[in-house]
Amino acid sequence: MSVKISLDSSLCVRYASKFSGCDSCQKACPIEVIDINESRVDIDVFSCIGCGVCAGACPTEAIRVSETEIYEKVFELISSKESVIGCRYNFFCLAAINGEYLATMALVNDIVLDVGFCKECEIKEECYDRILNNVSEADYILQALGVNAKIELKDLKKVSDISKERRELFSSFAFGKYADKEAQNGSFKREKIPPKRRRLFLAVLKQLGIEGSSKLLESKYLGFFSDKSIDDSCDNCSVCYRVCPTDALSFGSTGEILFDAAFCVRCALCHDVCEKESVKMEEFFDFESVTAKEPKVLKRFKMAICDECSNPFASISGERVCRRCRIEEEEAKTLWGL
Ligand code: SF4
Ligand code: SF4
Repeated sequence: MSVKISLDSSLCVRYASKFSGCDSCQKACPIEVIDINESRVDIDVFSCIGCGVCAGACPTEAIRVSETEIYEKVFELISSKESVIGCRYNFFCLAAINGEYLATMALVNDIVLDVGFCKECEIKEECYDRILNNVSEADYILQALGVNAKIELKDLKKVSDISKERRELFSSFAFGKYADKEAQNGSFKREKIPPKRRRLFLAVLKQLGIEGSSKLLESKYLGFFSDKSIDDSCDNCSVCYRVCPTDALSFGSTGEILFDAAFCVRCALCHDVCEKESVKMEEFFDFESVTAKEPKVLKRFKMAICDECSNPFASISGERVCRRCRIEEEEAKTLWGL
């Protein structure tokens, strides 16, 4: 029997921290063969039917289906300008194409999801609403970007002829391997490389000359985009930006916690690990932040040199000893019963 699904634990946030509450794959699995126990994700690969819905739901794209990533499949469809997508001929279950991928694909072509096979499918009950939700999210994103693109659900027997307007626009467009070059060039130039799903989205936006839109979207309708803030309870313990799997959060050279929305995949790990719950998800998301040239400053600290270890640290209220040295001092006192 060939294994239909595999998990790259180095990408899964559950393995990155015992505080992670991510259970997107488990919730998505229509036949309930994923089990999550603290820092472990167990997939019963013998019962798995390889529908790929968990892979589409995973924020960090840690799951592969039949040795393929959802990213690779979507990339293939976009590159071949395929506009009709069906589970029996060119994709996994349609519920595996999440809202961000659907929006990316619809930016290139109007697309038709062939739901003709759903009627007799054993996982229809669990997956059809997810397809509808993903389409709604993609429509919401496209509207915010001011793009008039269509995503239709049809019961097809044959591939129909779809509007060729945007397809022609892309006829001379070479995405390049994983769109790296595109994502790093011109208006989306960045020092780091965004996660794959986002790279593709950015590459397509760039090709279409869409610089983002200042229209605010409600976060609750988005799957993988988010904006953050950090409130005054933050003491720069540094855990959030150290665990962030995509480097969306980072610490700037002059004492700031920075956030780059283009990199955030909304895995929620920064929220889960913050003991003081200082990291907040903003209620609204502005697409301009995805294409912004600079990351946003979430919190600025005054930098000082630690009297004990001589390393630079963020001084919250004028203290002269860094957090690590203070913790070590406390531990030593406890150890010696002082
Ligand atoms: S959805 Fe992805 S990151 Fe989250 S627990 Fe499952 S495999 Fe890990
Ligand atoms: S900023 Fe937070 S939610 Fe976004 S990718 Fe990093 S850890 Fe995940």
